[in-house]
Amino acid sequence: MAHPDSAAPVAAGPNPLAPAWLRVPADANALAPGLWSRTTKRSDGELIVGDVSAGALAARFGTPLYVIDEDDARSRAVEVREAFDDAFAEIGSAAKVYYAGKAFLTIEIARWMDAAGLFIDVCSGGELAVALAAGVDPERLGFHGNNKSFAEIDRAVEGGIGAIVIDSLQEIDRIAAAAERRGVRQSVRLRVNSGVHAHTHAFLATAHEDQKFGIGLDHAVDAVERIRSHPSLAFRGLHCHIGSQIFGADGFAESAARLLTLHKRLLAGGDVAELNLGGGFGIAYTSADDPAPIGELARRIAETVAAGCEELDIPVPVVAFEPGRSIIGTAGLTLYTVGTTKDVPVAFQDDGEIAIRRYVSVDGGMSDNARPALYQADYSARLANRTSQAAPALVRVAGKHCESGDIVVNAEYLPGDVEPGDLLAVPATGAYCWPLSSNYNHVGRPPVVAVRDGEARVIVRGETIDDLLARDAAYDPSISSTRSTAKERSQA
Ligand code: PLP
Repeated sequence: MAHPDSAAPVAAGPNPLAPAWLRVPADANALAPGLWSRTTKRSDGELIVGDVSAGALAARFGTPLYVIDEDDARSRAVEVREAFDDAFAEIGSAAKVYYAGKAFLTIEIARWMDAAGLFIDVCSGGELAVALAAGVDPERLGFHGNNKSFAEIDRAVEGGIGAIVIDSLQEIDRIAAAAERRGVRQSVRLRVNSGVHAHTHAFLATAHEDQKFGIGLDHAVDAVERIRSHPSLAFRGLHCHIGSQIFGADGFAESAARLLTLHKRLLAGGDVAELNLGGGFGIAYTSADDPAPIGELARRIAETVAAGCEELDIPVPVVAFEPGRSIIGTAGLTLYTVGTTKDVPVAFQDDGEIAIRRYVSVDGGMSDNARPALYQADYSARLANRTSQAAPALVRVAGKHCESGDIVVNAEYLPGDVEPGDLLAVPATGAYCWPLSSNYNHVGRPPVVAVRDGEARVIVRGETIDDLLARDAAYDPSISSTRSTAKERSQA
């Protein structure tokens, strides 16, 4: 442990400020398996993705930059769909896999998902517009939301959306009225709050969960009766979503068991073709994350559903899922340029013992990845322009925003000679980064570039300061361009 006054480099070995799960890597350049997209590798030290080097990407598009490995996204989409298809075929039923667009939806990505045979789930009029602009068959879309506007409902019904997920009693009548006005019969699901909430390893099962989505299990039978009383609505089945970044099948099994009991009660009043168990399958963000393979999860859930249906003596329904992160998360990485580094002495024991935390500040931050600030989410990082044999140093990768909570990677070991001008790559930023991005501090959102077979192309244009100024109603370009600088004024 170095003293703050010493100019010695940060020592090798564990830094007491590191979280318990973070090990000092044998090689701080190594790309840990599972964290990086399938085509990511090193060549001559440099990080390569989709056969395009990090240096070439940064030179052509600048940083920060969202990079999406197209082959990874497309192949995972197919694999996830096949995992559920196979698992449910095995129990004599079928699965329906929706890509959860909220994870990352652009016109291009919607097309990849469509081509992979996935349905697409949207949760706002904006996401609906993207899916429709991509040319996705509206019949293959699902529409969520706990407070859809009348206009959004109308647009969905008018557009012939395959299924709208009803989230409140009020919505039943609103959707029925919209369908009646258009003379159509709208398929709907009912989102229920199963009382199961899961995250990573643990799940919590209560009688009632304190959250805004869905209708309590106790009220679902009445709600479905109300849905069925409307000739303009076709009830397709129940829906629930138990959480995110879930590594095991237990939470899904518990919520499936609860929903099947209700599903059986509903069968007494008419057809219930499907059951939707939502999304939430986890991915690795750090070397401590070890999610079960999707095939294994799909099999365990299918077995639970089969056993539950047998016990209840009901036919196995078609079971729908809505994975987002597990399809697109690992396909993305973000490239940043290091601007400054700073060694900060931090007392880590009551007796005043000091350790050094090295802050490595990059040219993006919470505006392109809000998850660390929003959820204390952990990420990893690697030098992308080179490798180095310098001893690993504990770093915190910070953003450039005027906010102390603006952290990109809370704790990581990087080669101790990381310096201004280096490129850093943060893996697994394909889900919930671009969709949650902002213009905080008047920073433009970075472009999104898809890479494949040595080609890189912009799939979403980045925002420039001119884009941002153009939205300011008081903006007059002639003012800033004609106004003299302070120096010119003082010389006048
Ligand atoms: N479905 C619903 C209703 C959701 O709210 C979410 C995410 O919160 C998802 C699907 C997708 O979850 P994930 O991206 O974790 O698979």
